[in-house]
Amino acid sequence: MIRTVNVQEITKNVKEMCIEANHFLSPDMEKAMKKAALSEESQVGKKILEQLLENLHIAGNDTIPICQDTGMAVVFLEVGQDVHLEGGNLEDAVNEGIRQGYVEGYLRKSVVSDPLIRENTKDNTPGIIHYKIVQGDKVVIKVAPKGFGSENMSRVFMLKPADGIEGVKKAVLDAVADAGPNACPPMVVGVGIGGTFEKCAVMAKEALTREVGEHSDIPYVKQMEEELLEKINGLGIGPGGLGGRTTAIAVNIDTYPTHIAGLPVAVNICCHVNRHVVRAI
Ligand code: SF4
Repeated sequence: MIRTVNVQEITKNVKEMCIEANHFLSPDMEKAMKKAALSEESQVGKKILEQLLENLHIAGNDTIPICQDTGMAVVFLEVGQDVHLEGGNLEDAVNEGIRQGYVEGYLRKSVVSDPLIRENTKDNTPGIIHYKIVQGDKVVIKVAPKGFGSENMSRVFMLKPADGIEGVKKAVLDAVADAGPNACPPMVVGVGIGGTFEKCAVMAKEALTREVGEHSDIPYVKQMEEELLEKINGLGIGPGGLGGRTTAIAVNIDTYPTHIAGLPVAVNICCHVNRHVVRAI
């Protein structure tokens, strides 16, 4: 049966989610940071993790953003094929939600209208919106504002099939090592393997929104996530880049079929404010 959803509902939810994501770190991230603060061996690293947790506490209590870079709003929409959207254009509705969230929530406006002319749009629009048509009669919205300290350290590698799994691991480790302190560690590392040039990048981005501590259902991928996390934490970058074992708190890998002649790998790095809020309407 067809269910009708007015796009004003989407605007309202996106607005609230932009504000929520920027003021409250998701419970999975906060839990992982607390665990890391207990286990970090470096005294400086431990202190930084404690300060980051204190920052979260102050931000939540005083309703101020968890970071000054409130990000470019990335929105993943899963639209059930039994949904009929009414009341206007969906993309406009999402951007209106971003606009209201950033303006009314007093969040920093970080978007420029043209990548070279660089005039600020003053309302943080447009967002980056990814659509999927899925089964059912719901609209699932994920809002993941992305800071550019870590975005700038992300990479796409067009590997050869012969590079294999070891080549993929090397690519991820190289990207994280090159990012060093610039990605505001501890990081979450999203990895997309397979597909095409753009598909692996979108997979890497969406992998960042996975619950910290959840692993891939594919046994060898899960093993790779665990091995890479261990190796990344052996790089010694540490919290704030000042040394220690907590360089990353999760490595989330998604895969997709690819062409016989290629092995695309994207590494999307996120900082310790790995913001993501999910709602189904
Ligand atoms: S990378 Fe993350 S923590 Fe660093 S400034 Fe940007 S949003 Fe803030």
